[in-house]
This record gives sequence, structure tokens and C-alpha cells, in this order.
Amino acid sequence: MAKTYVKPEKAQNKYTCPHCNTLSQMQCGEHHFDSDQYRGFRNEIGYKNELTIHRCQCCGNKILWINNKYIYPDIIPEEANPDMPGTVKQLYNEAALISNKSPRAACALLRLAVDKLCLELGETDRDINKNIGALVKRGLSQDVQQALDIVRVVGNKAVHPGQIAFDVDDYATATMLMHLLNMIVTRMISEPNEINCLYQGLPESVKKSIENRDK
Ligand SMILES: [Zn+2]
Repeated sequence: MAKTYVKPEKAQNKYTCPHCNTLSQMQCGEHHFDSDQYRGFRNEIGYKNELTIHRCQCCGNKILWINNKYIYPDIIPEEANPDMPGTVKQLYNEAALISNKSPRAACALLRLAVDKLCLELGETDRDINKNIGALVKRGLSQDVQQALDIVRVVGNKAVHPGQIAFDVDDYATATMLMHLLNMIVTRMISEPNEINCLYQGLPESVKKSIENRDK
């Protein structure tokens, strides 16, 4: 996610547009029926039902709230790490887009994504507990394993990838699973790539002396 990302808020007129991804000025308007009018505590006029429409000054598309509930367009709560393998990212993005409307379906897809990510990282046991355990031995933080236990991906109460845990599968679990997937990709793919890039950029003489030292 870009560092300048600002979440859309009804009361703000500048944030990252969910259509064009630009930090943009919004044109704001409120719509209501006069028959919904009521007098507030200090005699100010309020409305029972209010449709708030923001229009992005950059792309011209609209963002909607009904009363205080965000409605449109669907937002991805946390962008996938760009290093995420394609098949995993496809599941991730599909889950992210429905996480607001159907967190249970999103959690099921995200558990499948964790399973697929293990396969992509070369851990091919049928038991996801063992695959995550192997990743921990390869440098994944144990905290991630514990967090995966809480969201029922690993551990004794784990549900099979793609299945639903009716007791915990809410929006918070979906966002946590997204965050955990990104953490695994960062630790197991992005960081090693970055170190490898730095190493490749060293002068030949330095690389030779490192190789000789390691012999
Ligand atoms: Zn826009």
C-alpha cells in the first residue's frame, strides 16, 4: 500500500480515491428527503436518512455512504505485497474485495491462499501445520505461527483450507489473515530478494572475499 494512502472518510474532503488510487480532492454532496427531517437537540435540522456522495476531482467517479455506512465502491483493506505469487494474489484480491460484505467467504478464500502460498514456497506436506512449521525453521517469525493459530489456520482447532469457522470468521479475522499473508511474503520472498539484490550489486572483489571466507 502506498505510504500516502488515506482511507475514505465521510467527513473528509481529501483522501485516496478507491477508483483511481490518487490522493484526491473530493466534491461533497448530501441528499435526503425533506419528509425525513427532524429537529435536533439545539433545534438544528437533521435527517433520518442521508445519502452522501463524494465525487473525485481527479477521475470523476463517485464514492457513496448511506447514513454513516460506507457503501461504494468496494475497498481492499490492505493491498497485497507486490511480491506475492500470482495464484495467491488472485485469491487474496478476490477475498479483499468481498471482505466487507461477506467476511466468512473472505476468510475461507484467505485460508486457501495461505495453503497455496506454502506450496509456492516449496512446502508440499498435506498438513498445513507441518508446512508452516517448516517455514518457521526457514526464518518465518514464530509470532506469525501463533497468529495463524488464533485465526484457525494452524493448531488443533484449524479448519481445512477453504472451509469456514463459524465462530471466528468476521471482518477482523479477514483483515488479520490478509496482514499475515503479507507478512509471510515479506519475510520469505521480499526480504531475501532485497538482500540478494544488495549482494549482486557488490563489487566482484568483495563478493570473492565473502565467498572465500565462507569456504
Ligand atoms: Zn478518483
